[in-house]
Amino acid sequence: MEASRYVGRFAPSPSGPLHIGSLLTALTSYLDAKAHDGVWLVRIEDIDPPRQVLHANKAILDSLYAHGLYHDQDVLFQSSRIAYYQDIIGSLLNSHHAYRCECTRAQIKQHGGIYPGTCKHKQITTLPSAIRFINPGHITSFTDRFQGEIALNKHSIDKEDMIIQRKDGLVAYNLAVVLDDIEQGVSDIVRGCDLLPTTIAQLNIWSHFSATPPRYGHTPLLVTAPGHKLSKQNHAPAINDTTAKDNLLFCFSLLGISLSDAIQKSTINHILEAATMVWRKGIHFPKHEIIVP
Ligand code: GLU
Repeated sequence: MEASRYVGRFAPSPSGPLHIGSLLTALTSYLDAKAHDGVWLVRIEDIDPPRQVLHANKAILDSLYAHGLYHDQDVLFQSSRIAYYQDIIGSLLNSHHAYRCECTRAQIKQHGGIYPGTCKHKQITTLPSAIRFINPGHITSFTDRFQGEIALNKHSIDKEDMIIQRKDGLVAYNLAVVLDDIEQGVSDIVRGCDLLPTTIAQLNIWSHFSATPPRYGHTPLLVTAPGHKLSKQNHAPAINDTTAKDNLLFCFSLLGISLSDAIQKSTINHILEAATMVWRKGIHFPKHEIIVP
């Protein structure tokens, strides 16, 4: 890999402060970028106001800094790019790469939860209605750096014509994430396994824009018991920034990164540098889930 071309990022949604699971995601994307002598960006994905929590932006950034995780460029806030996303959505509609859809969740559920393209040829103009991108479906598999070969199967949500603008007018995550990764020249996406099911759909958006797709590495999720993801939704506690060093050491222990006693007693910067060296040599963490003791 050409080291100078590595651009990685951490892209949290401000739906709450960081918890230990999201800190682990931030940390893995940071270590991977640093291990490749790359650039590490932070992007706040704040385009879903109903799910946002007041002051979460600041809390997330403060936590990153407390843990020594400094981004290499200014933070990009997706809320500053809404006009751009809407322009793109307008062009996709005009060029017939997208269409309006009036289907309800209940109707889609009747089709096994995968949207079958019901409104594709209906030429709906009624407002409000959701807008769906016609999934070209050229990409049907990819090789994940940590998860191996990932391919579509008949239950894959990835085959859908995905929503790019919701009925309430909000721009949807799958489009915004790809447009920003393209704009920011992201070469490597290291993020949690919870986003694996939409990656092939996102790759199809990359291909529509003829952009060189990124490499993906999906890291294991922290769970309290098999299948029970630690998340904001199930009230994972916010990390305590005053114990940043211990939090980092805990994350490293979960990842199987062992550091000498001397390093553990040293500063956060030294600890991050030492962990980067270990990461560079290659680490082997569990594939899908790590149970938090
Ligand atoms: N904003 C997304 C989230 O917090 C992550 C986006 C991504 O890493 O692609 O779940």
